[in-house]
Amino acid sequence: MAYEYVVQTEDGAEIGGFLMGGGFRDYQLPNGEHCPVPEAPAWCNNCRAFVAAERVPSLPEIDEELNAARSGGAGYRSWLPQEGNLPWRDDDAEFWDEFAYKAVTRATQTRTWRLLRRGPPRCLLCASTSVMVVEEGKVQIAHPITGQQLRIHWVGHVRVSDDEYYTVEGLPISSTTP
Ligand SMILES: [Zn+2]
Repeated sequence: MAYEYVVQTEDGAEIGGFLMGGGFRDYQLPNGEHCPVPEAPAWCNNCRAFVAAERVPSLPEIDEELNAARSGGAGYRSWLPQEGNLPWRDDDAEFWDEFAYKAVTRATQTRTWRLLRRGPPRCLLCASTSVMVVEEGKVQIAHPITGQQLRIHWVGHVRVSDDEYYTVEGLPISSTTP
């Protein structure tokens, strides 16, 4: 499963789109484990398009999330940015504990990957490092060439038949690799 995003001008015209999130992109770690690719929207100078790119968080950032998630459901929830909150789960302590537990697993894997990673973020389509990654949570951006104001919208889910695998440095591995 993946999330579909579109890039729109202020008057609603679609100028691009990409798939991101939903857990279909994984790193293959040398120890045989997998780790979800942290992703972010980006402008790729090689694709000349908005794409999904890697996000390479710092170790302190990862540790901050790890510590918040280890504190349990309520603690993790209060640490999350406002837009990451799920108000319809207000009273569901069990949901938040489970959510925090999964976040501990994910952040632990991300930490293992980050300790091995050397290079800057890459475009997840063409592997170029000539990318301008959009700041986390930012939906309003200027087109890097035309300067036009744009918005990035989530529009829905898409079924993805094959997961995509990457090396620790973000280079694609054949999609048939388990
Ligand atoms: Zn690219």
